[in-house]
Amino acid sequence: MELTYLGTNTLLLTKSGASLLIDPHFTRPSLLSLLGKIQPDPIAVEAGLASIARLDAVLFTHTHYDHALDAAEVLHQAGGRCFGSKSGANLIRGYPLDDSFLVPITPGAKYSIDAFQIRFHPSRHITFPPPFGWMLPKTGQISQLLQPPAWFWEYQCGTVYAIQVDSILVFGSAGFEPGAYQDVDVACVVMGIGGLDLMPTAYLDRLYQQTVLATGAKRVYLSHWDNFFRPRCEDARPHTLSRRSFDRLKRLGMRYGQTVSLLKIGETITI
Ligand SMILES: [Zn+2]
Repeated sequence: MELTYLGTNTLLLTKSGASLLIDPHFTRPSLLSLLGKIQPDPIAVEAGLASIARLDAVLFTHTHYDHALDAAEVLHQAGGRCFGSKSGANLIRGYPLDDSFLVPITPGAKYSIDAFQIRFHPSRHITFPPPFGWMLPKTGQISQLLQPPAWFWEYQCGTVYAIQVDSILVFGSAGFEPGAYQDVDVACVVMGIGGLDLMPTAYLDRLYQQTVLATGAKRVYLSHWDNFFRPRCEDARPHTLSRRSFDRLKRLGMRYGQTVSLLKIGETITI
């Protein structure tokens, strides 16, 4: 399986000609544009999909706008099915796309998508302190059909999942469900570290224990480290709230015997 990081928590996974996109975010609205309503940019989405010959599915870790804004436009342009929470379904239906795109999921159940084996494990979103927590609360559902343009805060978090694809476990936000991954056996953890600098060291230790050490993963890849308000992901800069976390997690990797690396934008790695 190959993994290509495309900025924010956008992960392209390919295997035997099949592809999955996790949390596609190509539109990348600027911070200023969040003062108004936002919507997917079809041209940015088309450019983001340019290298994908065939898309089989879009998967959500949660439905904040930086993970879910573009999902329906991606399906509209590339086809495939959407695996996600009820909030995710309300985004897809509201766009509007019909139910043939949707696969409702049950936590813990196994799904085969072409050559991939998928499981959705319960997870949680990182808790941001105020004022960030007011803007992007870690709970809340999209309870009605959501049609863009919409306010960014209408993209409520929805149910949060850690997504297992074969031997990778992907956390879109640096949160966890305590004790939920003891029986999950994976080679790699992908961890979205957006906002993790706001958390105390004790939280990082617990996060690492509960996700990396609990699963026995030997490789840890960090995503969601870039400033996703910059419109071109090629010009990515580290987000000010993610800078220190890389070094702190790397030290934990050295202590416990894992390699911890930042995913580089556009780089493909073989898992
Ligand atoms: Zn989020």
